[in-house]
Amino acid sequence: MISKTAIKHLKEKLGEKNVLHEKEDLLVLGYDSTPGVHHLPEVVVYPTSTEQVLAAMEIAAREGLPLVPRGSGTGLSGGSVPVRGGMVLTLTRMNRILEIDEENLTATMEPGVITLDLFNAVAAKGLFYPPDPGSQKISTIGGNVAENAGGLRGLKYGVTRDYVMGLKGILPDRSLITTGGKSVKDVAGYGFKDLLVGSEGTLGIITEVTVKLVPPPRDKRTFLAYFNDVRTAGEAVSRIIAARIIPSTMEIMDRVTINCVEDYVNIGLPRQMAALLLIEVDGHPAPVAEEAAEVRRVLEQVKAAEIHVAETAEQAASLAAARRTALSALARVSPTTLLEDATVPRSRLAETFGEIERLAAKFKLKVGTFGHAGDGNLHPTVLCDERNHDEMERAHAFYNELYEKVLDWGGTVSGEHGIGLAKKEYLARQIGAGGVKVMKRIKQSFDPEGILNPGKIFEDQDSGAEQHLEEGFRVSH
Ligand SMILES: Cc1cc2nc3c(=O)[nH]c(=O)nc-3n(C[C@H](O)[C@H](O)[C@H](O)COP(=O)(O)OP(=O)(O)OC[C@H]3O[C@@H](n4cnc5c(N)ncnc54)[C@H](O)[C@@H]3O)c2cc1C
Repeated sequence: MISKTAIKHLKEKLGEKNVLHEKEDLLVLGYDSTPGVHHLPEVVVYPTSTEQVLAAMEIAAREGLPLVPRGSGTGLSGGSVPVRGGMVLTLTRMNRILEIDEENLTATMEPGVITLDLFNAVAAKGLFYPPDPGSQKISTIGGNVAENAGGLRGLKYGVTRDYVMGLKGILPDRSLITTGGKSVKDVAGYGFKDLLVGSEGTLGIITEVTVKLVPPPRDKRTFLAYFNDVRTAGEAVSRIIAARIIPSTMEIMDRVTINCVEDYVNIGLPRQMAALLLIEVDGHPAPVAEEAAEVRRVLEQVKAAEIHVAETAEQAASLAAARRTALSALARVSPTTLLEDATVPRSRLAETFGEIERLAAKFKLKVGTFGHAGDGNLHPTVLCDERNHDEMERAHAFYNELYEKVLDWGGTVSGEHGIGLAKKEYLARQIGAGGVKVMKRIKQSFDPEGILNPGKIFEDQDSGAEQHLEEGFRVSH
């Protein structure tokens, strides 16, 4: 329990309005966007500078409080839920873009900058920051870095890690670190930067981020293709890649998702279709024209039911915007939306869709699937009600069987949402006891007292479940 003196000191250091400790304020800050996980923090602080982050960390250390960094709370694996209580450090008020360097093509900012704000700020200078998670209107850059977020353009442009050049942060022992910077090449010592990217707030608090910018594509062609069978849509994705075409975007929605999105945004999507693919090719005009012709050829070859090309940039943007609503649209339908992040080698996409259909029927569940098909990254989403115990058991069994297949096919249990609380058990299955042991040693060397975001990614103590896994089950990454 945090002391009154500590609250007083926090208010002195951070300002009255940047410290919340009344229960009614804390209630909404015990969640992120993951269903079924909630825990009240004891205090939530909103530092506005690195000095204030440090001051809050000092007070937490004196009080023996665990610390949980938080961006906008759009995470989908429970990463910013304070499962051990303690202090939540919300970085959203450190939201200044410090520099857009047009000579070096970099941008440097505080961690609370909203992803879309960064995109718009650099676009105004004729530059391009590609990572665009579906949550880009709300998510923060700090959260994107901590989760190594992907997005709709990941297929061609990569994920957040591919753009992070430098980080500043504070380690759990309150030492300040700088790793990387504006130099395009830097191999000095261990790659701390890459360890911090995707560390889910367990190794350090990120206080400044420098990212790479690129020139924007000059031309773009957007296709919307409909299919009578979801497996054919998966087949189209595999064949486009096999034809050596790397679109910037190749997104999929199945029939359940199409109908939920149409109910939500009402843009005339055909409800009877089994699946749609949103495909974009971009770059210089000549190759874009060639790639667009090739994409059309493949779509015709697999017998897509309908093929449309966006006629204007506005039309293309509204199709991408509709795709970004998929999760919110599905979430309106049932009290609980369990969303997963299964990712397979792209050649396995059609089979994965077949497996999702089979398992949904087997466990009598309503499942809507959408995702970054070009990355092999699907979000099979079970529409259910957490008050229905039997249904939740079936949902768990559904994901269990699905992940077994995904791992057999050389896939991963998380393409982009991270492990957090939601997928600890699955991580151990993927990387084996040996892999978990190495991760724990890394955590131990950054955070020997285990105060930063405890209980995430793996159990703090060796759990029976992990012990039972055979060594060498599969050690990847
Ligand atoms: C509708 C919707 C669509 C989404 N689409 C995508 C998508 O396309 N691709 C994708 O990858 N994800 C997606 N997500 C998931 C989520 O938006 C991302 O994981 C995002 O990066 C989280 O950012 P955030 O600011 O909300 O972070 P939070 O949810 O607040 O935190 C996420 C994790 O980062 C840590 N963290 C946050 N800030 C810091 C910091 N400064 N220093 C250290 N650790 C920190 C937290 O402790 C936590 O572990 C989506 C979520 C929603 C709700």
